[in-house]
Amino acid sequence: MTSRTLRSAEELADAGLIAHDSVPALAEVARRYSIAVTPTVAALIAQHGAPMARQYIPTAEELITAPHELDDPTADAPFTPIKGVVHRYPDRALLKPLLACPVYCRFCFRREAVGPDGGLLSEAELEAALDWFARTPAVREVILTGGDPLMLSPRRLGYILERLAAIPHIETLRIHSRVPVADPSRLDGAMLAALTLERPLYLCVHANHAAEFTPEAARALHGLHGAGLVLLGQSVLLRGVNDSEGALEALFRAMLRNRVKPYYLHQLDPAPGTARFHVPVEEGLALLRGLRGRVTGLAWPTYVQEEPEGGGKFPLGMEGLRPGAGQARQAR
Ligand SMILES: *Cc1c(COP(=O)(O)O)cnc(C)c1O
Ligand code: SF4
Repeated sequence: MTSRTLRSAEELADAGLIAHDSVPALAEVARRYSIAVTPTVAALIAQHGAPMARQYIPTAEELITAPHELDDPTADAPFTPIKGVVHRYPDRALLKPLLACPVYCRFCFRREAVGPDGGLLSEAELEAALDWFARTPAVREVILTGGDPLMLSPRRLGYILERLAAIPHIETLRIHSRVPVADPSRLDGAMLAALTLERPLYLCVHANHAAEFTPEAARALHGLHGAGLVLLGQSVLLRGVNDSEGALEALFRAMLRNRVKPYYLHQLDPAPGTARFHVPVEEGLALLRGLRGRVTGLAWPTYVQEEPEGGGKFPLGMEGLRPGAGQARQAR
């Protein structure tokens, strides 16, 4: 098996993960959307096939944009007060210190933006972003995302976390990351030291299939829990990956065994070229109804959809809580 991260169609072919005759077409995809397959993920693909391969191996369909797909499905742009920050909800804001990830997921809603060479905030940009948090007292929570914040060096990540934790009105910190399952070797002693804070630090682990909780991932998660982090899970409902009651139950139970509380199950955002992953909301709701009651309530995530035009995340299956739902009923 491969010992380093595969980053091109040629390297995927040489590792036997795609056919050699598909290299020209997939090299074209790679010019638009980055590729990265870590040794951990290559081993998962070899062992588990389709549910793993679909998440990471490019296909020619990615260059086809379906009519309902949007260029900026989350509409971050209007909510960016300063480079690297997204402030859409009053009490919390995103900080995106870089746009690199350990792997590049084929369904990613930020796929136009993420990649290995883009998006690292310069020293000056980072200081300006930290300063924005210091002078925005309404914000009580900083959510580090990107890209993947655990792709930073422990020194730089530790510096950012310390600076944020020193701001009196920042009560909690959160990191969203795929590193614990996609490249657990990054979570060494230096990284755990950088993540050990007095401020509560929540780590939201992105995983979509039970198999992603390998023994190495389990060790990394145990280390993070030992360092005092609170572990949450986020998943995307994906056709051919986890679109069955059995797959979701196995995924959420694997999270719980690793001290990870399932937090969000995301409805796929309609990013360009991701139609093959789409599962209709009605089907998602039916899958969750199948689990309810039969499976421990701890395993229950909130099923959420990103509203178009920057409306924010909305919990599905709770239509009565939709903003304006009450008025609509009164008006009728
Ligand atoms: C998802 C998201 C958050 C976090 O939302 P929670 O519901 O608190 O997990 C914050 N800001 C932006 C812009 C987001 O997209
Ligand atoms: S790790 Fe997250 S941000 Fe990076 S490609 Fe995957 S889904 Fe997108």
